[in-house]
Amino acid sequence: MKRQYKKLRKYLPVKQKGNLSRVSHFVLNKPFVKRDNIDPKKKFPNNEKGGLIISADFEMAWAWRYTKTNADYLQKGRIERENIPKILRVLDEYNIPITFATVGHLFLENCERGAHDWMRKIPHFDDHWKFTKGDWYDHDPYSNYKDAPEWYAPDLIHMILDSKVDHEIGTHTFSHIDLSYKNCPPDVADDEIKACIMVANNYDIKLESIVFPGGTWGNIETLEKHKIIIYRKRNEFELAYPYRDDIGLLVTTSSGSLEYDLNYGWPKEYLINRLKKYVDKAIRSNTIAHLWFHPSLEPFILENIIPPFLEYASSKREIGELWIGPMNSIAHYINRNKII
Ligand SMILES: [Zn+2]
Ligand SMILES: [Zn+2]
Repeated sequence: MKRQYKKLRKYLPVKQKGNLSRVSHFVLNKPFVKRDNIDPKKKFPNNEKGGLIISADFEMAWAWRYTKTNADYLQKGRIERENIPKILRVLDEYNIPITFATVGHLFLENCERGAHDWMRKIPHFDDHWKFTKGDWYDHDPYSNYKDAPEWYAPDLIHMILDSKVDHEIGTHTFSHIDLSYKNCPPDVADDEIKACIMVANNYDIKLESIVFPGGTWGNIETLEKHKIIIYRKRNEFELAYPYRDDIGLLVTTSSGSLEYDLNYGWPKEYLINRLKKYVDKAIRSNTIAHLWFHPSLEPFILENIIPPFLEYASSKREIGELWIGPMNSIAHYINRNKII
């Protein structure tokens, strides 16, 4: 049934795809919840009923090269630069701390040819990215953040650190690689995470959370070795309280994206209500809604959808029903209090 649904979706025109998603969301009573047996009174620091995590995949041009969509990766990087101050402003306004899962290379002010040669590189693969020749680092301009602002972002990282709200800086690998067991040998994963830790040290940042690039998943042993404590993962359920994987790391389920496909033509009110539904159901089911976005998101979403949604979430926090925080914060709470 699931396979048929996926097949059907693939051949539908984009508007109808949006309609199908709307109908299935309603009929199947989505979002789906992963149930657990944890005492609801212990799940959140101040006895809140549910939680909200927001994470941003902060990556600039690194994410979009090799993409099969042929996105203009430099343009994406530039949009991200323009959006970050606006995003921080709206998060400040509603006092919403989030996790910026940041590509390690963005911490650098500059780099020279050969600077990353010590790192072992991923072999070629044609999967969700088309990387079939050359080197994963071929796009690196070996320049600096003033001349090649799409590849470095020390100024933006400082802006995040200096903002009124206490955001988390997590990792998104050093060069936005596929971290799956299939495409990434452990020694490559090890060097990528090591490189991230080295550059983050210069900012006194301890990396504790990871978002896998491109929805990949793997090399958990390496993450554990480098003291990463929690990661975001897509599952067949959308709402869940964090749980442990086989290795012992905490997993926070991805509920969905804050930036919907605007080609669906959904009205603004529907987009906002759909997001509110995640928060409402997280509260009802004592779970967490974890919504994510790319900082290169469309201005329409940033201006029209995110502010009313954040206002709603903060009103739920105001009445004590909703905990809001970054990934590492709930992980610390769980570990400190031995919740699971
Ligand atoms: Zn470089
Ligand atoms: Zn990414």
